[in-house]
Amino acid sequence: MSQTPHPLQVYCNDKETVGVCRVEFYTTGGAFLQGMKMFVLILFVAILSIVLPGLHFITVPLGILASPFVWIYVFLTRKGAVKRMNGNFFCPECGANNNVAFRGIPPYSNKCVQCQHDFTCSPVAPPPGSNPRINGVKLD
Ligand SMILES: [Zn+2]
Repeated sequence: MSQTPHPLQVYCNDKETVGVCRVEFYTTGGAFLQGMKMFVLILFVAILSIVLPGLHFITVPLGILASPFVWIYVFLTRKGAVKRMNGNFFCPECGANNNVAFRGIPPYSNKCVQCQHDFTCSPVAPPPGSNPRINGVKLD
């Protein structure tokens, strides 16, 4: 989890606000392992489907052919992406303090703890090593 707080963009009922969040990103190695898990899972399911009469003529070759592409897809979508995020913001509708924790890739949605309005939030955080600059000024 990064120690630097990042802005958290929150949308609620056509209103928006900015909160604060701390973000953990997928590393290249973590993304590779995540892809490998999906690869093994799909291969395992394809092999298990051998017992399905008739259907296994489709499921086994499809699983074997698709698994490396799934690995690549998961790796490319996870690499540098947000893994988990803890945030805090004041609801733009009622002003209640919301503490949120999400896993996976943003945007995240939930309901306000007080007014139950739906909100969507995403961290505005550059991935580590991306060396972000605005008008030549280095951020972070
Ligand atoms: Zn609210």
